[in-house]
Amino acid sequence: MKRRTWLGLAAATGLRAQFSSQERVKGVRETDLRLSDFEPRSMLRVKETRVERPKFPVIDFHTHLSWSPGPGKEGGPEFPARPEEILPVMQRKNIRMMVNLTGGRGPVLEEVLRVWHKPYPDKFLVFTEPWWNKVADPNYPKLQADEIERAHRAGARGLKVLKTLGLYLRENVTTGPLIKVDDRRFDPMWEVAGALKMPVAIHTSDPEAFFLPIDRFNERWEELHAHPDWSFYGKDFPSSRELHEARNRVMARHPKTQFVCLHMAIAEDLGTVSEWMDRYPNMWVEFGARIGELGRQPRTARRFFEKYQDRILFGTDAVPHGDEYPQQIFCDELYEIYYRFLETEDEYFDYAPARIPPQGRWKIYGLGLPDSILRKIYHDNAVRLLGLG
Ligand SMILES: [Zn+2]
Repeated sequence: MKRRTWLGLAAATGLRAQFSSQERVKGVRETDLRLSDFEPRSMLRVKETRVERPKFPVIDFHTHLSWSPGPGKEGGPEFPARPEEILPVMQRKNIRMMVNLTGGRGPVLEEVLRVWHKPYPDKFLVFTEPWWNKVADPNYPKLQADEIERAHRAGARGLKVLKTLGLYLRENVTTGPLIKVDDRRFDPMWEVAGALKMPVAIHTSDPEAFFLPIDRFNERWEELHAHPDWSFYGKDFPSSRELHEARNRVMARHPKTQFVCLHMAIAEDLGTVSEWMDRYPNMWVEFGARIGELGRQPRTARRFFEKYQDRILFGTDAVPHGDEYPQQIFCDELYEIYYRFLETEDEYFDYAPARIPPQGRWKIYGLGLPDSILRKIYHDNAVRLLGLG
């Protein structure tokens, strides 16, 4: 029966009023449940393993223990926490070392090193960041390369490039056309990082769904509604693929520089990432904030981890007090989830310490990696890349 005909009939017979009260009683109204109110409890009875400590000591290659001012801004570093708050968690979770990627540059970097690295040189390493505010300076290429050398002398152990490059940084820093990831003026920076054995931790693009309309087909609808500024759909943003291809050209052009593509490069498409890993021997990956992606394709992910076990780094993207993005909040539970994901074959568990899965409504499956691979991913690969004893 067509809707209009049915409604006409219902109104005529008084069925309509009767039906809506029945709806309420029988719970048919639950079909109109708001997504934000939906909290299904899994009825599965499957093995649940609590992994309080990892099998091997951990180097967390991707953390944010300080923030530096973004493009167009000035000022000192911000510290979401102090070492005294972080160290007990490291002790409990067997974390040997944390790499604080967002150390900034110049005086900001010096302050970050003073707070984190100098008092605890074996616990916290700090990376420097490019001097984006100078990008319009005609002398920028040399200036930037010199700045990396200065940062290295000050104690920075690598270079961090946020997704700012490709998605935010513009010709006049905050205005004008976007600057491409493979812009030639960065060439001396990539080269000097390689010469100084400073790995480049680079975040390019973002989840594929962030480049699509925020509509009912978008699998990260809730996350994009919580963070509308994370959407790169429309405007003058390049496509995700263009961003990755520009980054690939940078890796090809600087073969002696080691590039760690953060967040697995494209965690949703490990086939493509495999092709890149084969093509660029100086490409590494790190999986911070992406176990939600890896854990929903556990067989593909496990094959990837087996094949590229020497170029994968453990990272969480942890942010102390990062309550707005629970998949990254620094706490014991976050690490336990990562350890469970890597070490066990548990099925269908939460990828973040949150009431509702924050990056998409699914659960994950453990990889059950063997000890030989765990040891490399937790620790040995980072030791090799960072040149630690
Ligand atoms: Zn990060």
